[in-house]
Amino acid sequence: TDETTDAAGEAVLELAGVSKRFGRETVIRDLSLSVREGEILTLLGPSGCGKTTTLRLIAGLERPDGGEIRLNGAIVSGAGSFVPPEDRGIGVVFQEFALFPHLTARENVAFGLKGWDRADRERRVDELLDLVNLQSQGDSYPSELSGGQQQRVALARSIAPEPEILLLDEPFSNLDVDLRVRMREEVRRIIKRAGVTAVSVTHDQEEAMSISDRVAVVNGGRIEQIGRPDRVFQHPESRFVAGFLGHASFLSGRVGAEAVETGIGPVARDRVHGLASEYEGSRIEILVRPDDVRADRTASNANGRVVSRRYLGPTVLYEVELDTGERVGCMHNHDERIDPDERVAVVLEADHELSWFPQGADVAG
Ligand code: ATP
Repeated sequence: TDETTDAAGEAVLELAGVSKRFGRETVIRDLSLSVREGEILTLLGPSGCGKTTTLRLIAGLERPDGGEIRLNGAIVSGAGSFVPPEDRGIGVVFQEFALFPHLTARENVAFGLKGWDRADRERRVDELLDLVNLQSQGDSYPSELSGGQQQRVALARSIAPEPEILLLDEPFSNLDVDLRVRMREEVRRIIKRAGVTAVSVTHDQEEAMSISDRVAVVNGGRIEQIGRPDRVFQHPESRFVAGFLGHASFLSGRVGAEAVETGIGPVARDRVHGLASEYEGSRIEILVRPDDVRADRTASNANGRVVSRRYLGPTVLYEVELDTGERVGCMHNHDERIDPDERVAVVLEADHELSWFPQGADVAG
């Protein structure tokens, strides 16, 4: 339902039942998605799940073995048609930016505007340099620009020819951590102001969450879940999605009449999202993230033992091994100096409903 309700506007790009094989290996399986005008959609998944292949299929650098790809309603791949990459009106930003070193920022941005008349071209380049905040660096060569500035030139160059769709392939991976975080906001702002429709790919969940209108979590060449970042994070539909987005722990428990009996004690059923009565008596797994729980060293009803402590700057992550053998990560926002090996009671603090999965299954409840 996220697919149809989370984004308004016309579909600019549609993939319908797309598959792709390399030799005997199927790397994209029956993949369908639709990207609406002005939307930023990110394909998020582990290495090798098929993200880059999907981008290359959209760009026309690969041909699908099945299914169709449509741009603004017209088939560009599939059903016997194939529009070559240069005729698709697609802009691409690669991780290595690929700026021309012997051209200035201004000339780099103008590069894709060959067919434009001079006055229009100059106006468009000014507009773009302005958009990416590089008005005064137009005459600088790439080697004279910082990593963040180079990335903005690359973005301006891709947006300048007014592409139907902009593809971003791990656009932040060549930037150092601080800059990467700042550039996410910047890139989102630029894309939104330019009004471009964009598809990006990354394996970094924070990046996906912060730049996207919607995220598609990809696993083994299939989309496991697609929706608004907060929805996907709060209501993962599979264990894979839950585990891929942030540090997840799973508490196994038996569903009773009032509560689920778990390794951290009873969890009231009304704290568990939509747990139907038909599950009474069966085992489920409850998803807990580190900020949902706390380790209490003063409680008398200890249920586990701290096995590690990790400083993360403003927060500390304690890994607790419960007496059931399960491990739970607990995030504390100050250091109470709980030592490894200390007995603690892991206490549920979440003020939202918890997600759960039937035990052993990979489907959400
Ligand atoms: P990464 O984040 O590591 O780039 P990815 O999710 O982008 O991963 P793809 O690059 O799309 O994954 O690759 C998906 C699968 O297809 C991998 O198993 C890869 O080895 C395989 N693959 C990709 N391109 C080719 C090719 N040209 N020939 C054969 N196999 C390929």
